[in-house]
Amino acid sequence: MDRFQHYIDGSFADGTATFESLDPATGAAWAVMPLADAADVDRAVTAAHRAFTSAAWAGMTASARGKLLMRLADLVQAHAPRLAALETRDTGKIIRETSAQIAYVAEYYRYYAGLADKIEGSHLPIDKPDMEVWLRREPVGVVAAIVPWNSQLFLSAVKLGPALAAGCTVVLKASEDGPAPLLQFARLVHEAGFPPGVINILTGGPEAGRALTSHPKVAHIAFTGGPDTARHIVRASAENLAKTSLELGGKSPFIVFEDADLESAANAQVSGIFAATGQSCVAGSRLLVQRSVKEAFLARLKAKAEAAHIGAPDRMETEIGPLCTARQRDRIEALIAQSLAAGANLVTGGHAVSGAGFYFPPTILDCTDAPDAPCLRQEFFGPVLSVVSFDTEEQALELANETEFGLASGVFTRNLTRAHRMIRGIRAGIVWVNTYRAVSPIAPFGGHGLSGHGREGGLAAALDYTTIKTVWLRTSDDPIPDPFVMR
Ligand code: NAD
Repeated sequence: MDRFQHYIDGSFADGTATFESLDPATGAAWAVMPLADAADVDRAVTAAHRAFTSAAWAGMTASARGKLLMRLADLVQAHAPRLAALETRDTGKIIRETSAQIAYVAEYYRYYAGLADKIEGSHLPIDKPDMEVWLRREPVGVVAAIVPWNSQLFLSAVKLGPALAAGCTVVLKASEDGPAPLLQFARLVHEAGFPPGVINILTGGPEAGRALTSHPKVAHIAFTGGPDTARHIVRASAENLAKTSLELGGKSPFIVFEDADLESAANAQVSGIFAATGQSCVAGSRLLVQRSVKEAFLARLKAKAEAAHIGAPDRMETEIGPLCTARQRDRIEALIAQSLAAGANLVTGGHAVSGAGFYFPPTILDCTDAPDAPCLRQEFFGPVLSVVSFDTEEQALELANETEFGLASGVFTRNLTRAHRMIRGIRAGIVWVNTYRAVSPIAPFGGHGLSGHGREGGLAAALDYTTIKTVWLRTSDDPIPDPFVMR
């Protein structure tokens, strides 16, 4: 079996314990992973804390930091095929998707490489004649970055890129499900030449997560995962009072009006819900479709869902791969059963594929007669689309906002003024109009409500890893008068 190691303080090391990682395509163990405990986490945070003030990192110019990030971007690009193959092997995400995504991950590092020497302070026109006052933007300190199994290289790039550009140091915890691509990425960090301790990468479960998020030397926690874990993290941060940014899940509405280009909308809906086998935080998992086109639109979706090629994730022709874990497969099946019991109708799919591996087919549930079905409220994190119809624009908006989440949304219409009204009315961090799932390093990404808070991507994300230092400098040569002598 393959063996992977942690990367702590510039060296590769075994974990205190190990565990076996399963290949989601077969369910068989294929690699031995290190499992971090609280002691491993403490070593990593201590190294990051030391590196934060070291001459090698704190004394490095912002431009030099940018060059290091650029070197890392080039290495990611050069090693993209290996990283993609490992992500596919360890998480089941299909090779078509991992290859395309990793090529784009390099662009995130490039974007933040370019930003490193553009994080500027400012000067204040202060209301005192003998004072100069300015603001320095300084790195916040040690960042604890925690990611889930899906898109780990991408989800860590949107944390590492801005944190390093700002001058922070990082302890990155990969998910215990499918950590291989990030443990391999550590080799590129090493090759790029970051000073020891600036980037530390380990893997482990809740124990490591708790130790990391409550560690007294952590200043900022950047988390992507589910809302339940986020609650634990916020509680843990009561110990160190670290700042948190939380990118959580969603139940994102995908709204189709009768005047939309139905073929285009159907293609966007299929990739919006079935890409990554539905294991995507922005999955357009609630289809709201105008009643007049519902049957026609559903017929297109059903045909496309049933034609999707389900198979081994490492084959280029595969369109739907396995879920990452058996746990995820079983959870999805149970939630579908509850939704059918609540009155939802099965349009297609609905049952795990029998045989080896954690496969689940594209599934569509028509909830027109089941407004209280759990599938309309709870995130599946799987290839399951729940459908509701509406008659008027007002109803569409009301349904769209009927969720505790607020991450993404999609609107398909050719009516420009209606599009603007929907953009204004939808409560979500992202509105895509006549498109879905577009992302860029230049554009902020995030949500509110149960979808979390804070934004990744763009300039604001780099500023989020800084703190402001206010400097007062007295310009007068007159001595400061003795305060205890009356004048
Ligand atoms: P999860 O919350 O179970 O796990 C995420 C990470 O948290 C893992 O690394 C895990 O080891 C760690 N963790 C677990 N317990 C912890 C604790 N007590 N303290 C600290 N860390 C702990 O999430 P998951 O089930 O692996 O991933 C799916 C979730 O992630 C979904 O809800 C999905 O929507 C969300 N997600 C969000 C985004 C986004 O950008 N908004 C992107 C991808 C996934």
